[in-house]
Amino acid sequence: LVSRELQAHDTLVDVGGVTIGGDRLAVVAGPCAVESAEQLHETASAVKAAGATLLRAGAYKPRTSPYGFSGHGPEGLKILREVGDDLGLPIVTEVMDTADVARVAEAADCLQIGARNMQNFALLRAVGAAGRPVLLKRGLSATIQEWLLAAEYLMAAGNPNVILCERGIRTFEPATRNTLDLNAVPYVKGKTHLPVVVDPSHGTGIRDLVPPMSLAAVAAGADGLMIEVHRDPATAWSDGAQSLYPAQFEQLMGAIGAVAAAV
Ligand code: PEP
Ligand code: MN
Repeated sequence: LVSRELQAHDTLVDVGGVTIGGDRLAVVAGPCAVESAEQLHETASAVKAAGATLLRAGAYKPRTSPYGFSGHGPEGLKILREVGDDLGLPIVTEVMDTADVARVAEAADCLQIGARNMQNFALLRAVGAAGRPVLLKRGLSATIQEWLLAAEYLMAAGNPNVILCERGIRTFEPATRNTLDLNAVPYVKGKTHLPVVVDPSHGTGIRDLVPPMSLAAVAAGADGLMIEVHRDPATAWSDGAQSLYPAQFEQLMGAIGAVAAAV
């Protein structure tokens, strides 16, 4: 179902009225996690003013350490919905557990499947049947074939609205958090009709690498970007080191416009 051989034209995914795929670049931005209503609202207002058209933030966070902040759960979803409605920004947020799928689908416009769950087949089936668009992150060490087969699970469960997200893979290189595989963008776009977005925040783990890799992703043909921004990265509860300052994001949005117009 994901193959271009079966469908030649690009799939356009409607996320709460914003199209992902096609001619216009979609920018999903926001903090790693919902920390408080004020933190989300202030950050979301800043990214909206800079031109982002979708809001991201996690209410359920996959953390490497069991002692890390794992999200506010249902309360976080409520804050996300309120801020999204207030600013007119559709919401993209992660769901980690089959038990939470209905709840997250009720609150969010697009369900994110995180890298760590790319091959959680029960979750893929449940999210595939949830009736919401899905943003499927590439697994930490997943091949492109495995990633596309995970997308196939979603489509086979009845969901045609799948967005692929390249977020870096684990390689032998420890200097950056992950190795952002931009080869994957044009390669995957040749193999599948699904839209492909790039997350240079998790792809690099380093704030100052996010702007250049965002531009590179657009030049490579990405349909969108997912970028972490925090009103005050130094105090972020998660992923502060890779979160852009609002002013940095605003500057980046200008440069993105120039590259997008050139490709
Ligand atoms: C995230 O988007 O905050 C996240 C946890 O991403 P990933 O699953 O790509 O690590
Ligand atoms: Mn994060």
